Amino acid sequence: MDSTTKTAEFIAEGEHLVASFGAENVGPTLLVFGGIHGNESAGVRAVQRVAERIKDSDLRLCGRVFFFAGNTRALRKGVRFVDSDLNRHWADANVTRNAPDSQLSPQFSEDREQRELLEVLLPVIESARGEVYALDLHSTSAEGVPFATVGDTMRNRRFATGLPVTILLGIEEQLEGTLLEYLNNIGAVTMGFEGGQHYAESTVNTHESLVWLAMERAGIIVWKDLPDADYHAQVVKNATGTPEILEVRYRHAITEEDGFTMHPGYENFQRIRKNEHLADDRSGPVRAREEGLILMPLYQKLGEDGFFIGRRIRPFWLWLSALLRRMRIADLMHFLPGVHPTERGREVLRVDTAVARFFPLQVFHLLGFRKLRWTGESLTVSRRKHDIESPFKEKA
Ligand SMILES: [Zn+2]
Repeated sequence: MDSTTKTAEFIAEGEHLVASFGAENVGPTLLVFGGIHGNESAGVRAVQRVAERIKDSDLRLCGRVFFFAGNTRALRKGVRFVDSDLNRHWADANVTRNAPDSQLSPQFSEDREQRELLEVLLPVIESARGEVYALDLHSTSAEGVPFATVGDTMRNRRFATGLPVTILLGIEEQLEGTLLEYLNNIGAVTMGFEGGQHYAESTVNTHESLVWLAMERAGIIVWKDLPDADYHAQVVKNATGTPEILEVRYRHAITEEDGFTMHPGYENFQRIRKNEHLADDRSGPVRAREEGLILMPLYQKLGEDGFFIGRRIRPFWLWLSALLRRMRIADLMHFLPGVHPTERGREVLRVDTAVARFFPLQVFHLLGFRKLRWTGESLTVSRRKHDIESPFKEKA
């Protein structure tokens, strides 16, 4: 079996910018991240390859591309993280605490990583004069079909559906403080990509081809100038199969104390039945709450997600939600019985589900909201920011 090595000693501590190209502040900006999880070095190797290729060529780029290594200290050790997961680190409070101008000194390894990343990232975003795109490359402990993870805004959908990949909508709703959520909230078009098994050489290849295609999709390079364009499209297509759009319905959250063990043999997108015995933990068997497709079953020690369950979305729902969002129906939702604006106005709504007896979460998803929490009969949803319009385009 072909495999890459498990650690990335070639990355220096704190050196996040792998390479950047395109000097002028015109056109779009693409940010590509590899190794936000330190045991996922395939993404870093992929951006290094693309960078070498661009260096050796006389490619004409319209816009800018930046390649970043994520958790450098964890990459050198080959572990997911040192003190805490860097991809759950981007909630407002953390970002403020670790901002370059903060007086507080970083406490943990990932605080330091975050500060260093912000130091290189913020000037890039500040100086953008066109659309900003962010692509975050990941890999999984189990073998399986690669796929994209997308926060369900119209701008994110438009970018991702132009690539030959299966799209998983709504996973960010299940996770707090991801890098892409942070970038999405400041206005970037974002897409995560799970490229395959951590140590398989094929994962590096798939990531590399996807980065080239993303540069084309972002408008930084035109198809006819893209080196081996058809080859890259074929690599991604072969790896991912027929593109589909799925939604995440359930996350099985775990802690270290749970003693969670996934049953062997599950692969991404494998069909599961309701009540299927998927795993065991301290309190006994873990069964599927509903039927669907199993996503990202955990076969490594560290992690907070045991597995996810997803389902296919029918094209009709995608069409309907695009229509409703263009009509800005979301602006009217607080007039419905049982729906209340909060101290954050109409952007965050509290839904009394005993009164609003339609399928509230599904309806709010359609309209571009994400779930914040569900406590008893009260559902709190917030509107995804920058759903239809880019904050960067105005500067163009
Ligand atoms: Zn990851």
